[in-house]
Amino acid sequence: MIRITLILLALGNLGATLFSAPIKPQPPEHLIIGLDGVSYFTFMKLYEGGYFQYLNRPIPMVATFPTISDPNWNQMMGTDVQESYTKVHFDLNTDTEDGKGAPVGNLLTNLKTEVNYYKAFDFKPENAFEQLTIFGWTETTGEYAVDSLIQYFLKSRKKESYKAFILNTDIIAHMGGEEPLMKFLGYLDNRIKHLRKTYKGKYKKDLQITLISDHGNSFVEPHFVEYQSMLLKKKWKLVESLKEKRDVAVVIPEILSFAAFYVHDDFKQALAKDLSELKGVHTVAYSKSEKKLNLFIQNYGQLKVLLSPKERTLTFLSSPPKNFGQFQAKKTYTWDEYFRKSLNAKYPYAVVNLWEGFYVNAKQGASVLVSTDIKWAFANPTLKVVSKIKGKVKSLHGSLDRLQSFGIVATSKKLTFEGARPSDVYQSIILQQP
Ligand SMILES: [Zn+2]
Repeated sequence: MIRITLILLALGNLGATLFSAPIKPQPPEHLIIGLDGVSYFTFMKLYEGGYFQYLNRPIPMVATFPTISDPNWNQMMGTDVQESYTKVHFDLNTDTEDGKGAPVGNLLTNLKTEVNYYKAFDFKPENAFEQLTIFGWTETTGEYAVDSLIQYFLKSRKKESYKAFILNTDIIAHMGGEEPLMKFLGYLDNRIKHLRKTYKGKYKKDLQITLISDHGNSFVEPHFVEYQSMLLKKKWKLVESLKEKRDVAVVIPEILSFAAFYVHDDFKQALAKDLSELKGVHTVAYSKSEKKLNLFIQNYGQLKVLLSPKERTLTFLSSPPKNFGQFQAKKTYTWDEYFRKSLNAKYPYAVVNLWEGFYVNAKQGASVLVSTDIKWAFANPTLKVVSKIKGKVKSLHGSLDRLQSFGIVATSKKLTFEGARPSDVYQSIILQQP
């Protein structure tokens, strides 16, 4: 008996010498999970209810305009901007027999084309089929995605942070609403807790966790903006290529609280004004040059803003509505000042976000950008039918409103700011090594 024990001890020692000699590789020390469309306000309900306590108090990630996935994830992950705001768009560079520009893509394009920011993630929905199953069984595929991302993470031996992308959260919000989303996030919290425990036990180190999301969601059922009849009445002509003076093009690929219109340069102002009178529309903007932005705002009127992209400053020519923050007319503010001073307003950082909508967030900026009230959305007739088949849409995003624009930065690392812009996420989280 004693001999056997001794032999076993010797074998044990041998095993230790043989296998501990090279430093045992381990999974990355930092796991970053991108959660599409998780609203700051939803996440805070959970955080204040005792979930995600291994993270420091989350801060809002103030999305750029439109408050949708592509421009925001590309800025956060440092990947190239898309051709337009969504994969389905209007291409101004195409000349047809009927005039300038042509619509590109359809509903399927949205599922089939890979977006640039996918390249920056180690774990993501791999193909169109997987994306389709996400639309089919959101909660179940969501839990499956969390489980498999943890498996892949534990097998990874890369030195840098491991980055995973979960699309399900936005789909759950749109199709199911806030309650199933919170349930899913509760599941995620549980799995992360378990993972951290396993990691600590095995590697004697705390696993750093960061959760980020690209925009918020307001939990409302949409009313649809009736733009078609207005355009007809005001003698605009909805076309697929711009030729005549009052030709207007628009592509509505999803049900979103924003829209991008295309028109001949001389008619931007007239179109913006007409759109601003539509029920459900909140802010309409067009830009005369990189240094001039004109806004039509509901219950306010026209607001002109001068910007200097080089110096990163702006000047309101009249004092903006209170829900844009407290700012004086004709005083020049830096963009950083403007960000801090408008963070708690209903429309945080609205002007610079709109400006980015024209000049940063798409290779082809629109002629006129529209942001709706949180209950309102743009939809084409086909989508209205689809939404009736699928059951009612439960949430919206795309607008300048804080409910729709506040995503999250929630991390176990130190954060020194109160609110982040997409580029801050890239600089302070994605570019940082663990
Ligand atoms: Zn998104």
